[in-house]
Parts: sequence; C-alpha cells; structure tokens
Amino acid sequence: MGFQTDAIHAGQEPDPSTGAIMTPIYQTSTYVQESLGKHKGYEYSRTKNPTRSALEKNIAVLEKGKHGIAFASGLSAISALMGLLSQGDHVVCTSNVYGGTFRQFDKIYTRYGLEFSFVDTSDSDQIRAALRKNTKMIFVETPTNPMLTLTSLDEVAGIAKEHGLISVVDNTFMSPYFQNPLTHGIDIVIHSTTKYLNGHSDIVGGILVLSDKDLADKLYFLQNAVGAVPGPQDCFLVLRSTKTLALRMREHEKNANAVAAYLEKSPKVEKVYYPGLTGHPQHELAKKQMRGFGGMVSFELGTLERAKAFAESVRIFALAESLGGVESLVDHPAIMTHASVPIGERLKFGLTDGLIRLSVGIEDEEDLLQDIENALKAVK
Ligand SMILES: *Cc1c(COP(=O)(O)O)cnc(C)c1O
Repeated sequence: MGFQTDAIHAGQEPDPSTGAIMTPIYQTSTYVQESLGKHKGYEYSRTKNPTRSALEKNIAVLEKGKHGIAFASGLSAISALMGLLSQGDHVVCTSNVYGGTFRQFDKIYTRYGLEFSFVDTSDSDQIRAALRKNTKMIFVETPTNPMLTLTSLDEVAGIAKEHGLISVVDNTFMSPYFQNPLTHGIDIVIHSTTKYLNGHSDIVGGILVLSDKDLADKLYFLQNAVGAVPGPQDCFLVLRSTKTLALRMREHEKNANAVAAYLEKSPKVEKVYYPGLTGHPQHELAKKQMRGFGGMVSFELGTLERAKAFAESVRIFALAESLGGVESLVDHPAIMTHASVPIGERLKFGLTDGLIRLSVGIEDEEDLLQDIENALKAVK
C-alpha cells in the first residue's frame, strides 16, 4: 500500500461492537474476563489498551517496521531503550543530540554506570574511533537539532552490524514520511510523537519502532514493567493526526523551502542551515537517504541582539519551544531549547548566540515570507 493509504487505514478496523469507523478512546483501566485466565487479549491498560494497540500498529507500518511500542513522551521512549543496557555498557551518541536526551544520558544514566561518548556521527571515522570493548549501542539523530547536520544511515547500520551493536535513530525531525531508517538496516527508530506525528501541538508522546522480535519482546517487557505508557485519549489524537501526516509534511516542506531560499538571499542573514539547499554540505546525502528535506530551518544573524530583534518582531511565528505543529514557531536555541548544553560544547557545532531556529508551519507561504521580511527590518 502507499503511504497515505497506510496512514489512514493501517491498524484500524471498524469497531466490532458498533461499527464506529474511528477507533474509540477505550478509557478503561481493566477488562472483564470471561472465566479464569480467559480474556480477549486485554487484561490491564498499562500492559495493553486497544486505542494504543491501533496507534502502535499504525506507526509501525508507516516506519516499515513490525512492532510499535508507544510511550508517554519521547524521552520516556528513550529511557526504555536505556533499559536494554546494563551497568558498564557504553553508548556512542551524536554530539548535537536533542537537549533532553543529552540531559537524560548525562545526568541520570551515567549515575547507573552507563558510559556515553558524544561524537560528531556525521563523520563515521569518529564513530569507529569512539568504539570500546563495552560499546553496546549507537544512538544517532539525523538531521540534528538545530544545526540540521546529517549522519549516514547506511554507515551507522554497517558499523553496528560489524560490531554487534544496537543501532538507534531518532527520526523525529523527518517523520516516517520523509525518512525510514529501518530500511537502511537501522535496528530501532524513536519518535517524539509530540512533534510531526501528532502535529497539532496538543499532546506529548513517544514511540519506538523495530522489526527484530527478540528486541521487541524486551521493549514490550520494559514498557509494561516501567509503565510510562500514553493514555488512550492521547493515542486517539495521534492516530487522528497520522491520517494527514503526508499532507502536512508536504506543506511544511514547501513553506520551509521558500523560507530557506528567502533567508539565503537576505543580506542580513549570515548563514542558512537547511538540507534542501544545494549549498548544504550534505545535500547529496540528504537526497540519498531522505525523500524530502522537512520543515525545520535554522539561520545565523551574527549576534544575540540581532537574533533577539528578529525573534521579538515576528508576528505569525510564535516564540515557543517545540516544533512540528501546524503553526509556525521561532526558537532561540542558546537561550531556550538548548540552554542546558554547555556553551563550549554548543559553540563547537555552531550553536551560537546569533542562531535562530524556525519550525515552519503550514500557514500561507506569502504570509510567512512577509512576516520574516518585516522582522528582518528590525535587525540592525
Ligand atoms: C522533542 C524531542 C524529543 C523528546 O520528546 P518529548 O516528547 O518532548 O519527550 C526527542 N528527540 C527529538 C529530536 C525531539 O525533538
């Protein structure tokens, strides 16, 4: 089936009791059993819930995997992944990883005896150089936030296979519409469904998708044993949203392309980061492993004052954290989303005080460009 047919139908059957075309919100904690040990596959909603099952199946199909395992947030999905590891194990991780992921690894899991090396995974030599005897996992984000640097999925999958490691890709920025890491041989995909998959800025959620049965069994065990599961109403909302994922992603990308091209021409903008620009250092890799370039655009205005003037002068772009919703957002990473990254670290990958990140929404293109033009006038 094509992506849009799967998005609308995968995992969903008319409700057996009423014929309701939409999977109901099964707002229940427990299920009545017919007799001792005899039930319909559902015993307790931490373990399994029909609305959640429909969502898990739906996103698994969109990501070309066999198993979807949903969580209450992207970070709780990542935390479940850490449950695959044991004290003394080592993880190689993208240096410019999502701030909350870095904080979880650095502030929590190091206390449990896990070791992490944060390296520039866009350079596979750096991944190889970081491997140790106790390395068990490679955790990659591509493209990264907010620098939009890519890592080769084929190379990471190759290194992981060669050394018997679990490869994980955070695919939140591209969504399954533009990129499917499992088809490149990556073992596990993680999404913050809070972002593009839900796309309407009204829930927080996460999901893991994979095909390997043994790993999936371990993760289902962790999902139930740790218990950070999403509620049925949140699952319903994400399931409602994936139906329009393709339409939304196409609009996000069309607008982001226009915004990136506009910014590139402005004499006030020093540098634009967008994988769709032919000048992006990994434009060729982007064309090879992604089916589009997404809706995130970052750009450099040179100083904090100039970035502040821009961020406070836009009217349609709302000054807020998060991304991937239908509405456009503007973020100042150094002060907002990436404040927890030490300045020395962030300057290494170009996250300066003059950097602005846009989550380009699906409003009318002309209105967004006009808003940017007006805000740039305030940049002296
Ligand atoms: C938001 C985000 C996360 C964390 O997800 P939450 O749903 O906020 O817990 C992880 N990775 C990326 C790339 C994100 O953008």
